[in-house]
Amino acid sequence: MAGLGLSVPQGFVIANAADLSPASLASAVKKLGAGSKPLFLAVRPSVNGHTRGYMEAILNVGLNDQTVEALAARLNDRPMAYDLYRQFIENYAVNVLALRHADFEDIFTAHKGSDLISKYKSFIEQKSRAIFPQDMIQQLRGVIEAASRRNNSSALIVQEMAYGGQIHGVATSRNFSTGANVPNIAPAFVEKFPKLAAQLKSALHKVERHFKSIQEVTFTVEHGKLWLLQTKPAKINARVELKTLVDMVREGLLTKKEAVLRVDPLMLDQFLHPTLDATETHDIFAIGIAASPGAVSGQVVFDATEAQQLKARNRPCILVRSETSPEDIQGMHAAEGVLTARGGLLSHAAVIARGMGKTCVVGASGLRIDYEAGTMTSLGVAVKKGETITIDGSTGRVFRGHIATQKPVLSGDFATILEWADASRRMKVRANAETPNEARSARYFGAEGIGLCRTEHMFFSAERIGPMRKMILAETVEARKEALDEILPMQRQDFIELFEIMAGLPVTIRLLDPLLHEFLPKSEHEILELAHDLSIAPEYLRTRVGELQEFNPMLGHRGVRLAVSYPEIAEMQARAIFEATVEVAQKYGKAPIPEIMIPLVVGKLEFDYVRARVVAVAEAVQKESGLELPYLVGTMIELPRATLRAAEIAQSAEFFSFGTNDLTQTTLGISRDDSARFIGEYTAKGLLKTDPFISIDIDGVGELLRIATTRGRKARPDLKLGICGEHAGDPASINFCEEIKLDYVSCSPFRIAIARLAAAQASIRNN
Ligand code: PEP
Ligand code: MG
Repeated sequence: MAGLGLSVPQGFVIANAADLSPASLASAVKKLGAGSKPLFLAVRPSVNGHTRGYMEAILNVGLNDQTVEALAARLNDRPMAYDLYRQFIENYAVNVLALRHADFEDIFTAHKGSDLISKYKSFIEQKSRAIFPQDMIQQLRGVIEAASRRNNSSALIVQEMAYGGQIHGVATSRNFSTGANVPNIAPAFVEKFPKLAAQLKSALHKVERHFKSIQEVTFTVEHGKLWLLQTKPAKINARVELKTLVDMVREGLLTKKEAVLRVDPLMLDQFLHPTLDATETHDIFAIGIAASPGAVSGQVVFDATEAQQLKARNRPCILVRSETSPEDIQGMHAAEGVLTARGGLLSHAAVIARGMGKTCVVGASGLRIDYEAGTMTSLGVAVKKGETITIDGSTGRVFRGHIATQKPVLSGDFATILEWADASRRMKVRANAETPNEARSARYFGAEGIGLCRTEHMFFSAERIGPMRKMILAETVEARKEALDEILPMQRQDFIELFEIMAGLPVTIRLLDPLLHEFLPKSEHEILELAHDLSIAPEYLRTRVGELQEFNPMLGHRGVRLAVSYPEIAEMQARAIFEATVEVAQKYGKAPIPEIMIPLVVGKLEFDYVRARVVAVAEAVQKESGLELPYLVGTMIELPRATLRAAEIAQSAEFFSFGTNDLTQTTLGISRDDSARFIGEYTAKGLLKTDPFISIDIDGVGELLRIATTRGRKARPDLKLGICGEHAGDPASINFCEEIKLDYVSCSPFRIAIARLAAAQASIRNN
């Protein structure tokens, strides 16, 4: 601010407290004090942005038993001078000597004036065995050392105090709640001091132009002169932040790229979830902490297993717990939203729900749950299990009954920023989507194709699970093919819909990946039902289900291994894909380009084995239809061996898509389904910087990705490379993908906008 020519109390900056010698400090203070005697100083950490963890400003350094009288004369207010002295002693004790503000409360209420001062001093001596120093340089050194212990990387500003008495305040360079480009200065101040208000306005304009963000300035007026004490970015909400960035570009203050770089991609999450329909009014049942945004309705369940059962019947539910623990994770997955009575923003429920993108309200104080009775009460009202409630994870409110929601819309400043982002983005952004709904929502948010269609999800619906089970339990190839013939038309229809929605865009379809066991009945009741449907003995069915059980399913008979054992499944899927291609080509005159993806390969031989089946089906369908069909066959790289053998695999695979979920679990040897039980301890103890299932483990998994991209590209220079694990929606991981020059990232539809922005930022940073 001094550099901008603004009126700032004299001072100096300590760039690095560790390098400061007592002599240089004394000489800097001496220079300051040359004019005014006695000298009083303020020490502030230089903070750009959030202030959490930083030391508070320490004011009135230099006050002691003598100088307090000089201050009393200067202020013409003795009680005020003593009160400032008392505050300084307390702040010194708290920040330098590690006492607590609460320690002083009793003394404060019992004493007054200079008596209070001596009580404070003796309390400090007794409690911390240190003496409150009377010497200014000693005081200053104590404060500086304490500040650098707290946040050793930030600079400190030491300034002469300006005393405004009642005339001091805070002003912002624009309206911080609307973003309107009008400085926010208290009307009373403007009225009373029009000249100073004009000076303040021009100062606000200058600091804003310099820092290029809405600034919050602290000022004071001493003897008719305006002093600016501090400036920092104003706290504003996400909407105002986007508006300001767009306005500042239009005002010529920022370039589009600068504006794009300033948005925290994860902040966009607030705009990407349904919101409650404002026209409906409902009674509030409880109020908690808004932990993960979105608004959802569903039946109340108090138990994770019940949540899974309701999910299986396609009934939306809200999982309500006092607090959650790792055993609840499957239930959280199954529920539309999560509500807890206890816990804050960093509670298990809050952290896990945000990771899943699941709506969550935590710490609804006053909410009592009676698990035995299956009821919860709040604000004197009881809600039973099975009743419908609505939770709003953006405001923390909980309502009885169902409330309509509005879909998130991409418009206004949000859309503008994304448009600017797209202009700088190199990597494409695709979606992981399998249902038409997901595909449409993905396109709405700007997906440029589907990067992962997990076909197994297409087999869980009521009319398909039957033939699927028949296929799995078939004893002969003929019986299996018969069941697959029943599935083929449904599967073909799935792909037609996806191709139509993604018209002209690439669609990557993964052949069946999960353990067949997942499709089979689990409970005795379901086994009896299925045995009846298939006219087989329950005893026999139970044995078959048992046989399909595996000790380590994640390392078991899944992925490409299924296609090796049952090539008919891959052939049916390939046929459905190619026939859908033909149908769409005939209808629209233009064929989509399907990318057929073989999951979980470890090397070239098994890839080639399955690829040959797919190619044979393609040729057959081309012959039958008389159309030439463009298509690609590639693989998912999800196992460490595949990254090492990438050169060979790329000889026959036309694309790689990194499945970093499986690659992370197999590289670290940590099951992704169980990691939540202990990863938190690793991050808390500093043994892992971030959860490797959320942000790519750059040193390990990242190294394997580098190896695979280098070796793969060497063997096939035009190898298409993408990523489709959950990491593809994480900004830090997206930055890494840009570093290794992947062609695209593919993430869940609700992350598309975040990925577009993060990919643009990565392009700008890396080029
Ligand atoms: C992966 O492993 O990263 C992946 C996308 O596949 P899935 O999560 O279905 O195993
Ligand atoms: Mg996988």
